[in-house]
Amino acid sequence: MNKKDGLSRRNFLKTGAIVAGVGAAGVLGLSGLASAKTRTYATLIDLTKCDGCKNEPIPRCVEACRMVNEKKFPNPKEPIKDLWPQKTHDNWSKKRDVTNTLTPYNWTTIQKVEVEGEEIFLPRRCMHCDNPPCSNLCPFGALDKYEDGSVVINHDLCLGGAKCKAVCPWHIPQRQSGVGIYLKLQPIPAGGGVMYKCDLCHDRIKKGLIPACVEACEKRLGARKPLFFGKRDQILKLAHDRAREINGFIYGENENGGTGTLYVSRVPFEKIDLKLKEAKSTLTMGKVENPLADVNGWAKGFFIGPIISALGAIGLALYHKGKKENTTAEAKDTEGVSIHTKKEEE
Ligand code: SF4
Ligand code: SF4
Ligand code: SF4
Repeated sequence: MNKKDGLSRRNFLKTGAIVAGVGAAGVLGLSGLASAKTRTYATLIDLTKCDGCKNEPIPRCVEACRMVNEKKFPNPKEPIKDLWPQKTHDNWSKKRDVTNTLTPYNWTTIQKVEVEGEEIFLPRRCMHCDNPPCSNLCPFGALDKYEDGSVVINHDLCLGGAKCKAVCPWHIPQRQSGVGIYLKLQPIPAGGGVMYKCDLCHDRIKKGLIPACVEACEKRLGARKPLFFGKRDQILKLAHDRAREINGFIYGENENGGTGTLYVSRVPFEKIDLKLKEAKSTLTMGKVENPLADVNGWAKGFFIGPIISALGAIGLALYHKGKKENTTAEAKDTEGVSIHTKKEEE
């Protein structure tokens, strides 16, 4: 949401404009796209160089991510109630040590496939899409695409409806139930927890630091590192140079409309994707079109979970109304870190 538009998605909900709350986040979200392209950062993952840290107790990038984000991890209230009407809930809190998949407590993971007799390790995390459907279609405006390229979930606003996971081509965000503001809205059946995923170390980038995973990998391998972080145009150039050098392939330049996490590989991504699908992984690497790129996709976005969204928007507006005076200062702080605020545009 661009500052020039004068009304952020968050304010939209706060001011009680809930009649159009369903899908309006998407309409407004797209206006931030241009700025996301211009000063954005990206990561290149060179699959010819990652050895999966197979001789380490835990991949260094995974370990660093867990350490740097530990304070953001959820601490759910027990007992955790079932979602309505699904009669289930998501609880990773007893499995915090899991590192071989994405969870609310593990925001990056290493997959392994074997293609043409070659072991390939795939560091996976949020792709930080240029035009992220997760952010543009979140009914509560709980995700933002920032100017630095990061797509960040606001854990204080997220109701855990998991629409972001449904519209993400890689199903990246993961839900923890028993935590977040949905608990305060009950018995209104809105959401069911809070969604978690890689935030590109948004707070570190603001301080001029590189993401913790990139730093940890570099400390281990020095010049032989597979992870590179920088301005997206430079990273794209690096990806093309490397692809030419190895007669290889790039993933992320066009997928889902372009992403901030790019891969280069000697092996075609179609073959990697096939192996992932054979292994029944939901975290695949196929060609994906952005659902927001055409009118039909837009229409679909408007109608995913509209009832839950409407109830949630109403509940959220009431909740914010009740807290209005107490939260004024807090809200100012929160908005001060947005891509679209003056502070970061300067
Ligand atoms: S990206 Fe680097 S730290 Fe992570 S598994 Fe590969 S080599 Fe290890
Ligand atoms: S990869 Fe998925 S969660 Fe990440 S920005 Fe893209 S759509 Fe959103
Ligand atoms: S960029 Fe930060 S949050 Fe994302 S995987 Fe790396 S360390 Fe984790």
